[in-house]
Amino acid sequence: MTQLNETHGPSLQSWLNSANVEGTDFPIQNLPFAEFRRAGSDEAFRGGVAIGDQVIDLAALNNAYLQGSLGDLLTAEAAIALAAAAQSSLNELMSLGPVHWSALRLGLSRGLRAGAAHESVIAACLVAQSDAAYALPARIGDYTDFYASIHHATNIGRLFRPDNPLLPNYQWIPIGYHGRSSSINVSGADFPRPHSQMKAPDAEKPVYGPCKRLDYELEVGIFIGQGNAQGQTVTMDDAEAHVFGLCLLNDWSARDIQAWEYQPLGPFLSKNFASTLSPWVVTMEALLPYRSAWTRPETDPQPLDYLESAQNRAAGGFDMQLEVLVETAQMREQGLAPHRLGLSNFDYSYWTVAQMVTHHTVNGCNLQAGDLFGSGTMSGPHAGSEGAMIELTKGGKEPVTLSNGEVRTFLEDGDRVIMRGWCDRAGAKRIGFGEMSSTILPAIKA
Ligand code: MN
Repeated sequence: MTQLNETHGPSLQSWLNSANVEGTDFPIQNLPFAEFRRAGSDEAFRGGVAIGDQVIDLAALNNAYLQGSLGDLLTAEAAIALAAAAQSSLNELMSLGPVHWSALRLGLSRGLRAGAAHESVIAACLVAQSDAAYALPARIGDYTDFYASIHHATNIGRLFRPDNPLLPNYQWIPIGYHGRSSSINVSGADFPRPHSQMKAPDAEKPVYGPCKRLDYELEVGIFIGQGNAQGQTVTMDDAEAHVFGLCLLNDWSARDIQAWEYQPLGPFLSKNFASTLSPWVVTMEALLPYRSAWTRPETDPQPLDYLESAQNRAAGGFDMQLEVLVETAQMREQGLAPHRLGLSNFDYSYWTVAQMVTHHTVNGCNLQAGDLFGSGTMSGPHAGSEGAMIELTKGGKEPVTLSNGEVRTFLEDGDRVIMRGWCDRAGAKRIGFGEMSSTILPAIKA
């Protein structure tokens, strides 16, 4: 595991003033990656790193490096990583592994510090975030969605199966299903309310139409870095070296479609119409100061040996705050602030990222660079920490009143769902994941 190093120093300052503003998501200690270009242009997408309110154009920085303008700022490994990050997806950078990622981070950190020798060269590679448009960070080959919050699993299970909320395998297996990658889009991509079949419990037969119980799921997205060969397994000790970083994920869900279709093979059309990702991926190294011990209540089954490691017990968790808000069409028209629906934390997870990676590969399944995992809806144990509306409204039975007086049981057309994430701990600099959002459009007439 990568160790804390000079890039994490909480007092580090950048020559870029906006990176030093209290509360910024993107101080010099963060340095997350995205794919971007200038909004409204037909430029090629290329990798970028966020710093303050700017993006470092990594294709431009790579050109500067190739022209010799960066002197000895970059090691050989960092230069290889920079060339990979300059491409139109981050897959190649992700495939390089932690040594290269870390070398590039160190080079960027040194070049961005107050007093750095190469300030003017790097400053010439900056694009304002307000001028940037984003693409997905990677070509996502495969997408697996886990179900790692026991609070969510219990809340949902109680609605679908009141007598038997938590199935017996839950405490033994990091439960997941294979999702669809083609309909994952980056923040800002809106989508129409989906159609399919639904059947009310007391109805004789199903009906076809637009879903009426559209929901969000507040999740952490996990990007796989280096993959594994088919037939090989990734052990707990190696698991995190295969993870590039984390982002925000909204796994949109149509609850009425889900209720009718989910047995026996799991979610299908209720999930595959849209998922939304934040543009920025925060690297595992940037997240080091916010790692936490992972524990399992003594009264619960302890993991089988292949899902145990000392490292995982000591620091397998992430103290990562997660927030979901809604901005209705009415709020937008009246200029009102969005309403917070939930505030949770990735530390509520019953399973760690390492356990997800190891379990996914224990049968020999091969992961590939750019594969995406979802953590599952990351609900916490108390009121206010629900990560989905179905939990908040008890399956639609207890509508929620928003700050402007509007009422919701599920999402309505025009609702924009916003997600944010950040890590903030004493002794470390606060870092954030930026903001992502997407708006529900009316169903397409069918
Ligand atoms: Mn989900």
